[in-house]
Amino acid sequence: MQPLPREYNFAELERKWQQRWEEMGIYRFDWKDTKRIPFTIDTPPPYPSGELHMGNVLNWTYFDIVARYKRMQGYNVLFPQGWDCHGLGIEIQVEKENKIRKRDVPPYQFRKWCEQLVEKYITIMKEGILKLGCSIDWTTEYRTMNPDYWRRTQLSFILLHKKGFMYQGTHPVNWCPSCETAIADAEVDYERREGTLNYIHFPFVDSSESLLIATSRPEFIPACVAVEVNPKDERFKKYIGKKVTVPLVNRTVTVIGDEAVDPNFGTGVVQICTYGDKDDVKTVMKHKLPVIMLLSENGRINDNGGKYAGLTTKQARKAIIEDLAVAELLEKTEKLMQEVGVCDRCKTHAEILEVKQWFMKTRSLADDVEKTANEVVWYPDYMKTRLIDWARSLDWDWVISRQRMFATPIPVWYCKHCNEIILAKEEWVPIDPKLKNPRIEKCPRCNGREFVPEQDVFDTWMDSSITCAVHAGWPDLKDWRRRFPADVHPSGIDIIRTWAYYLMVRHLALFNETPYRSCLINGMVLGSDGRKMSKSLKNYVAAPEVLNKCGSDATRQWAAGGGATGSDIPFRWPDVEFGRRFLVKLWNVSGFTSKLLADYTPSELIEPVLQPLDKWILSKVAKLTLKATEAMERCQFNVAIEEIRNFTWHAFCDSYVEAVKDRLYKPESHGKPQRLAAQKTLYEVLYRVLQLLAPITPHLTEEIYQTMYAADKGFKSLQESPWPKLDTIMEDERAEKRGDLVVALIAEIRREKAEKRMPLNTPITKLTVYAGDYSASEAIIESKEDIIGACKIGNLNVLPEEGTGREVIQYPHVQFIAEYQKE
Ligand SMILES: [Zn+2]
Ligand SMILES: [Zn+2]
Repeated sequence: MQPLPREYNFAELERKWQQRWEEMGIYRFDWKDTKRIPFTIDTPPPYPSGELHMGNVLNWTYFDIVARYKRMQGYNVLFPQGWDCHGLGIEIQVEKENKIRKRDVPPYQFRKWCEQLVEKYITIMKEGILKLGCSIDWTTEYRTMNPDYWRRTQLSFILLHKKGFMYQGTHPVNWCPSCETAIADAEVDYERREGTLNYIHFPFVDSSESLLIATSRPEFIPACVAVEVNPKDERFKKYIGKKVTVPLVNRTVTVIGDEAVDPNFGTGVVQICTYGDKDDVKTVMKHKLPVIMLLSENGRINDNGGKYAGLTTKQARKAIIEDLAVAELLEKTEKLMQEVGVCDRCKTHAEILEVKQWFMKTRSLADDVEKTANEVVWYPDYMKTRLIDWARSLDWDWVISRQRMFATPIPVWYCKHCNEIILAKEEWVPIDPKLKNPRIEKCPRCNGREFVPEQDVFDTWMDSSITCAVHAGWPDLKDWRRRFPADVHPSGIDIIRTWAYYLMVRHLALFNETPYRSCLINGMVLGSDGRKMSKSLKNYVAAPEVLNKCGSDATRQWAAGGGATGSDIPFRWPDVEFGRRFLVKLWNVSGFTSKLLADYTPSELIEPVLQPLDKWILSKVAKLTLKATEAMERCQFNVAIEEIRNFTWHAFCDSYVEAVKDRLYKPESHGKPQRLAAQKTLYEVLYRVLQLLAPITPHLTEEIYQTMYAADKGFKSLQESPWPKLDTIMEDERAEKRGDLVVALIAEIRREKAEKRMPLNTPITKLTVYAGDYSASEAIIESKEDIIGACKIGNLNVLPEEGTGREVIQYPHVQFIAEYQKE
């Protein structure tokens, strides 16, 4: 066996293996293999943001641990990688960098800039993912902005349209006035913001009295279509059906009754406007009220606002409050903390506009989503309620059209004469209707020959919510269903309502089947101060900094061990540094082992005679294998890494290796078969540790494997070695119990020497052990050679009775008296 060098340079070593693995092609999915069972990971294609952050590191470490573990278990693992390119973030950045608005330049130019920016961002993120050492099959790499991917998105739309899931309609939608596009419920965040509650008089038409309403959005007064009270509210029920005048605009509206009104909010009387919030939408639909659209797409008041036309909502609010005060209709204003829906990209207050949009029928799938979510395995289990609650909470169908540019085009035209919708045929895609006409001569309804392209584009989630099928090979490979549903869909806790949900509804609608068998959830990365990591909080750490400073294997240990799967995980430098120290410990014990195994060949003719301590550590490592395997099966990576590190550091390095050093160095006083037993045990236990660690710290374990084991074991890479079976090393309860006592005794003797400030190799002329009973004394006598060797004892005397002396920790009935050579 080859010895390991004394020191190692992790940066060099990690880079070397990342290159070699790629050259070896060991992470390629074998598309033709029909023997091994495929295991497919639905890697969520990231949105290129131009940097790899610690949250990404956490995600990819999870994906990669699963991929490597399953590969060692013999699966044909599909670990693909795509990039979810389209979207507002890129457009906004391009506008900023080029100091333009998207409509200032030709669409072709704008799109090109977007593509260039995406490529730049992908390069940066890819470098980070490579540095983390992820076992991705890079031959699968794809970009959703490429026409070949458009084809899949557009095809799925056409199929769903034919199945009746896609429809066009004029409905209220969430709208970001700053991004100037419709946004889905999932893109609306809720923030607590301070506003004002305004108390305003609405005079009755037939009397001099007035009704005092309270509203936080007085700028919507020009769009007021009713005033509402609770019919159970004794104060106001008599007014239901009466008419009031809307201040400033002098329009008459009716007082209506609805039990949804909270009598305790404000004055108990509210105005209904189109649309101040989602409740207004419900009321307008329920009571069939008229709609006065007040806002234009850029969020300014339109002509329906009369003298306020052209103002922003903020300007209009100020002007209207002033005018109300002048008209003596403003009773008072007070501060109010309220939940406000904001655009998740730009944090602008999201409005509700009624615009013609494309929708996917998703609410009708809520029962299916619930049923399927219950069949999926969730890690951790409680996360499934997040998906179910979300599906149940949705008021509206999914608005899938956007008024942007950098996105997949909607493959639709309209007949210029009769407005008939011309849906692209399946074989036409990919197609951009703005550049190409439909391949038909005339409109099937009116024989018109002119067509107008759909200007809207798809929501980015339309691209990224078909990945389970796309990764499997849909629609091109005939056998794609062999790889579908995905075995695991990994997702962040914050995107269950988007990613996990959209995947579910799209695939259920398209294929009547769940897209994934299991869902692995990671939490958020917190800063060292316990708050969510963010640049503005100054608790932000960039992933490249961590990877450069401590290497991938140490960083991965932080990700795996930082907390329970699904929980938020704080980033702490000491955790990464602890990972580094563990690697050094592993390297050193491997170096020591490699030297002592220089003359060892596993097929030695002499039969090794296993000593009690050999059996002890072998049983412990068998137990570790069981625990680590169970933890990996349940995606409890923190449990796996803790168990492996504890075993390696304490049972293996501190106890076993120390106890058998003498046997290894001095075969003459122990016997050759006994030495061979220690060698064989070291050989087996270290190999097992390397294998169990291989999914979490792949680089260092590979280096040790290649130097020490590859020639004998014969696997091209440790990553290709089969995950240890649970029965190859037997558990031995008796050996463990007895061994525990022996290592505790040795540790106590060493502790005594340390306390007396003696070197650990100080000879003990005589050691008397009071073992307390026969079974304990028998255990000690069985291992006496190792005890004598480890503690340099001249004469060991073990008595099966209680006595006096230094007590062994956790064994109060065992004491010893050590006599040292007189100076
Ligand atoms: Zn926005
Ligand atoms: Zn027509």
